Amino acid sequence: MSAQIIDGKMIAGRVRIGVAKEVEAFAAQFGGAVPGLATILVGDDPASAVYVNGKQKACCEVGMQAFNFPLPTDAPRAAVVELVERLNADAEVSGILLQLPLPAHLDGAELTGMVDARKDVDGLTPVSAGLLALGREGLRPCTPSGVMTLLEVAGATLEGAEAVVIGRSNLFGKPMAQLLLGANATVTICHSRTRDLAAVCRRADVLIAAVGRARMVKGDWVKPGATVIDVGMNRDESGLVGDVDFAAVSEVAAAITPVPGGVGPMTVAFLLRNTLQAARMQRGEAG
Ligand code: NAP
Repeated sequence: MSAQIIDGKMIAGRVRIGVAKEVEAFAAQFGGAVPGLATILVGDDPASAVYVNGKQKACCEVGMQAFNFPLPTDAPRAAVVELVERLNADAEVSGILLQLPLPAHLDGAELTGMVDARKDVDGLTPVSAGLLALGREGLRPCTPSGVMTLLEVAGATLEGAEAVVIGRSNLFGKPMAQLLLGANATVTICHSRTRDLAAVCRRADVLIAAVGRARMVKGDWVKPGATVIDVGMNRDESGLVGDVDFAAVSEVAAAITPVPGGVGPMTVAFLLRNTLQAARMQRGEAG
């Protein structure tokens, strides 16, 4: 079998076009106002700067406002708190993104938690995580939301399906499992202490890997006909590779995401979608 390749780049492009159209409609409805995303970048980590620039550019491309607030590496906690509080109160700012990781003297989880949940476009505050766990309306983390769209476009059946998520991070694994549960899948979350990981993976109709170990998921870990989503981003001598052995698994799976060009582009697309949803919620509309 040769798997269908799930083209995340193309699907993310469609999401962005949809957001751009909705931004136009938003502006028409609200007297020219457009959603705005504020990014906070503390320090000069080159990778973080590239990510923030990409997010800013993507915002402008769909007609949203983008504001960046750089702070020096040695910015005291109080300066970050003051900025988050100011942005929480700023009506022009629909979404706030505190770029992680922060310098060692700052607590990323604590400071992220200060973002107003209605502006939490990363979906990482305790309030957003709680709303997701309760199945109530709120902003969902971008990467798992993007994966749900990839599964939908790939035609994967989730209701009653066995879904296995490898990885239990707050950023991805836990919210991914919640979203799958919300779609009526039977969900198993695996991690570094899981016994016989390969056997658990072989049960999966939908297998999602978010570990950070290059090509860990082998061809004989996958049930024939499964849908496989590779969230991993690892650098090795051949460049950017995922957590799945793509060549071997694509001979067994029905559908698979490539790395690059699979999950990655969906994350920024859903950041834009979340910023639009946040702007709507702040104007009293359902997201
Ligand atoms: P993380 O916080 O490091 O979590 C990794 C998870 O993998 C942990 O739950 C860990 O288990 C588990 N794990 C580690 N070794 C394992 C093993 N041998 N067997 C089974 N489970 C194992 O990472 P993350 O933030 O979730 O990210 C995971 C990967 O996804 C990374 O490559 C990251 O770059 C990528 N990612 C990509 C995007 C995107 O936009 N494409 C977004 C987010 C993440 P324990 O909990 O027991 O330690």
